[in-house]
Amino acid sequence: MRVRLRIEGTVQGVGFRPHVHRLASALGLGGFVLNDESGVLLEAEGDDESVERFVVRLREEAPPLADIQRVLREDVAVCGEDGFRILASGRAGEPDALVAPDAATCPECLAELFDPADRRYRYPFVNCTNCGPRFTIVRGVPYDRALTTMAGFEMCARCGDEYEDPADRRFHAQPNACPECGPTVRLGDAVGEDALRAAAGALRDGQIVAVKGVGGYHLACRADDERAVATLRARKHREEKPFALMAPDLEAARELIELGPAEEALLLGRERPIVLGPRRSGARVARAVAPGSSDLGVMLPYSPLHHLLLCDAGAVLVMTSGNVSDEPIAHRDDDARDRLGSIADHFLTHDRPIHTRTDDSVVRARRRGAPVLLRRSRGYVPASLDLPLPAPPLVACGAELKSTFCVARQRRAWVGHHIGDLQNLETLTSFRDGVAHFEELFAVAPEVVAHDLHRDYLSTGYALEREGVRLIAVQHHHAHLAACLAEHGEIGPAVGAIFDGTGLGADGTIWGGELLVGDLATFQRAGHLHAVRLPGGDQAVREPWRMACAWLGEALGDEPPLPARLAGAVEPSRWQAIARMARSGLAAPVTTSMGRLFDAVAALAGMRARITYEGQAAAELEGAASAGSLGAYPLPVLDASPIVLDARPTVLAVAADAAADVAAATIAARFHAAVAGATAEACALLAQRHGLATVVLSGGVFQNRLLLDAAADALERMGLRVLVPERLPPNDGAISYGQAAVAAARIAA
Ligand code: ZN
Ligand code: ZN
Ligand code: FE
Repeated sequence: MRVRLRIEGTVQGVGFRPHVHRLASALGLGGFVLNDESGVLLEAEGDDESVERFVVRLREEAPPLADIQRVLREDVAVCGEDGFRILASGRAGEPDALVAPDAATCPECLAELFDPADRRYRYPFVNCTNCGPRFTIVRGVPYDRALTTMAGFEMCARCGDEYEDPADRRFHAQPNACPECGPTVRLGDAVGEDALRAAAGALRDGQIVAVKGVGGYHLACRADDERAVATLRARKHREEKPFALMAPDLEAARELIELGPAEEALLLGRERPIVLGPRRSGARVARAVAPGSSDLGVMLPYSPLHHLLLCDAGAVLVMTSGNVSDEPIAHRDDDARDRLGSIADHFLTHDRPIHTRTDDSVVRARRRGAPVLLRRSRGYVPASLDLPLPAPPLVACGAELKSTFCVARQRRAWVGHHIGDLQNLETLTSFRDGVAHFEELFAVAPEVVAHDLHRDYLSTGYALEREGVRLIAVQHHHAHLAACLAEHGEIGPAVGAIFDGTGLGADGTIWGGELLVGDLATFQRAGHLHAVRLPGGDQAVREPWRMACAWLGEALGDEPPLPARLAGAVEPSRWQAIARMARSGLAAPVTTSMGRLFDAVAALAGMRARITYEGQAAAELEGAASAGSLGAYPLPVLDASPIVLDARPTVLAVAADAAADVAAATIAARFHAAVAGATAEACALLAQRHGLATVVLSGGVFQNRLLLDAAADALERMGLRVLVPERLPPNDGAISYGQAAVAAARIAA
């Protein structure tokens, strides 16, 4: 028999054709394999049993970087072919260039890196078909060395032989390189081995080294050196936001954070994200690494350069993104010099350009189920996600904070790398370049552009500039709901508890504690958190004590007295002025934001009156919460239409506990229990009212694992099915994909 297989997914540039060739040859099959515009096309013939075995093993033994989405099979006429050949692609038509994400150094390459007899011994750019840079070095399609940032390096004869040999681990490995022909590291005038030793020496001495990595520059220093870490903070203008750490190996990581099997698997995975975990009490880490945080973010080396540096420095390093405060990470050499020159004592750099700036991804394991992605970027991007409905070629522009974009066509969507907060020219430029790059890579010529309702977002401004397209505006929390449904392959309807900081509501007010009932195309606001004022708008986001004032005033129905726990942090006259502002409503828009309720409680508990980075108060409140059952504050669910989560009694109970000297850890625990319980109760009520069985929990507030697990458990105990974000973050990083799903559904309707 002879079969023709079309294989779709990430199957180009990942060693798939050699895999097919080896397998077919081993089974004695004839035929051919080639890359075509939609993936890999092959035909194989031989006896029935061998062909069937081939079809099964093709999938089961696929190379590590391959991501098979679909195999289309067709039986064709036997033609008596007995050899198996890899054919050149050379086809016209639309490329479906399936560029793989960057992948951590594989065990084989690592063995070579540390083998004194190997020709790539201590060579910082060793890679093969199963590992190395991909997305960050791709300039265009087809994925071929000439269109990567390796174009300027001509392979030597030995590398060329490896590249041409289908039996070699480096067959068509586009970034293939060796000390003779590939990129070189440099530190000042020191080159290669000298540069590596100089960098490690400087790090050991407590200096700050800018290190050019895979997706951009890091700023590195010893993690156990209080003075070095404090200097880095001061120079980077980063007050308290935790720094990520890079540990040399799993053993070293185990001394920093509590690691279960899920965390260990994440640390060792080829995506190599930063893994957040509870800090071990004995962790030898400077206080300045993560002040006020009960978690530490740890990753393992993911490039050969990192392996060498960590090995030579012999210490856990701070590895924070190379930027000043909230700017995007530096990735071009001249720009890095300009921006990081006043921060770093030395630059460990190299001459392989980075085409697309890509931050480290951040994940957190859950007690059960898939981990929570907090930032999806290097290692994950640009792997595609399916859409449950076919889409016309489209671009979705996302929100504003933790911005991403998404391009889609037919049933596939590609969510871009984390752009950051889309609030200045630099991030807007990244955004524009990123969209253009993805449109080319994935052959999307947009007919539709989806965007947020908020006219002032730069992402919306970008959408409105696009000409000759159909615009589709999508409400923020609906996009959160749709993103979670769509990544699970569902179209709804479902109940959604969508809790976040801010999103413009359909009624023009600021939403953020929303209970929706909807599907991909439409939704209704079936409930929400009791609304309060946001005194001073954005200033109230930076100063949680203002939310404490607004909530307390709302709960008392009168001007609230300044609580004792805030007396040291807030002037009485300021407190009174804000209380009046909240009551008058002047410069104090209405909000149902759940994030702001967490802020208010963190302030009332005496934990934090002001924040220095987004989400800080809520993260610290979660980190502080005692384990075990300490009861829950009242948080009545008012059975009206829409349902109201009345947090006024909650806030009064928090204030009473705070006045009665109850520990912040207890207050935090009781508050989390209250929100989880009320959420489950309200969702169950809506599920019953609308005859639904599925509940979506999403929005940035659900980055809070304590809340997510408690709410999910309670809902499941009530017999409901719970969907949570798995392939995308619960935060606004998922909005672009949600907008794409909504646009697809509206067009299909
Ligand atoms: Zn490798
Ligand atoms: Zn070479
Ligand atoms: Fe949001």
